[in-house]
Amino acid sequence: MTKQLFTIAVLPGDGIGIEVMDVCLKVLDHLLADQPYFRLAYVHGPGGAQHYADTGVALPESTLRACEEADAMLFGAMGLPHIRYRNGTEINPQLDLRKKFDLYAGVRPIRAIRGVPSALSDPRAAQIDFVLVREQSEGLFYGRLYPEKQPKSDDNEAFDLGRITRKGSERLFDFAFRLARRRRAANSAKGRVTCVDKANVLSSMAFFHKIFWERAKLNPEITADHCYVDAMAMNMVKRPWEYDVIPTENQFGDILSDLAAGLIGGLGMSPSGDIGDKYGLFQPSHGSAPDIAGQGKANPTAMILSAAMMLGWLGEKHNLPEATAAAARLSTAVDVAFASGRLHSFELGGKDGTQAIAAAVIDALAQQPVLA
Ligand code: ATP
Repeated sequence: MTKQLFTIAVLPGDGIGIEVMDVCLKVLDHLLADQPYFRLAYVHGPGGAQHYADTGVALPESTLRACEEADAMLFGAMGLPHIRYRNGTEINPQLDLRKKFDLYAGVRPIRAIRGVPSALSDPRAAQIDFVLVREQSEGLFYGRLYPEKQPKSDDNEAFDLGRITRKGSERLFDFAFRLARRRRAANSAKGRVTCVDKANVLSSMAFFHKIFWERAKLNPEITADHCYVDAMAMNMVKRPWEYDVIPTENQFGDILSDLAAGLIGGLGMSPSGDIGDKYGLFQPSHGSAPDIAGQGKANPTAMILSAAMMLGWLGEKHNLPEATAAAARLSTAVDVAFASGRLHSFELGGKDGTQAIAAAVIDALAQQPVLA
């Protein structure tokens, strides 16, 4: 049988991105060693803040081409606070990739894993299982994505242009309702979409809110509700287990996704996928964490779970159930590794670093049948 081949553009980037990518690829090798139906071929692409410092270019043409030609992109982290563009902003090539490949939906699953302590003492924190869907093509990041549209700033005042469009909002909400439908098919307790905005103050958010209800009417089988972003910041701490799918504006999603990661053990536990209609980029929610880079302390779980998301996305896109099963098997191996209660990441005050956590996931894979 000829195995289906998926080409993956691998961009480790800066800081701990390099370390967590290295072990993630080893975990994928174990996962797919006996996989009879498909295989992955990696094309490694340089890029990031250090690359900018060394060459004057953050993302070389060759890397962009590799991304364009690949079936999916697997990304570590890019950016270093001491290396900046001339205008003082950090090097964030991931924003440029989101723009170039129109990766409009930032999908951030927030799921409690048994054996990983939550910041919340309420036992219901063990039931946390929701997905933030962050709009990534406009909102308050619009001026950063399209600097030519930005009003001029000077030494007396500074501006950032926000923009909400009908097209951008409709596709975000449609994505969220599709996701809720899939999640309800897998778990009948799910199937709720909660729009987060600031419609009571900002006219752009009132427009976003109005479009949400238009799209909700087209999806009557899914429960729809709404929450202002300030109230959601509180609800995510008081009763996060009640939520399912949460679509929101770009900047609100950026902030809430870090808060949400804190509920389930930190940024090192929080995977993400930047998804468009054609392309998908998968990366941990954390940045390059220069404070711990090079010390072997980074938790690779977010990177490994991002690779699982990539396999799930490839399986769905190419109608290949074996890739979907491999994603589930990897995610289960992570659960099994932590369920023992013996794994304690540095992030949460423990002593298990990058290698130890990856080794525990590989051990858990060895205990599972190849096809889940
Ligand atoms: P960015 O703005 O680039 O997303 P950030 O400001 O959110 O970055 P990070 O680089 O994500 O910052 O790191 C925030 C802190 O979280 C770091 O100081 C680090 O201690 C911790 N951290 C982030 N990721 C991990 C990880 N995988 N393992 C352990 N600790 C981590």
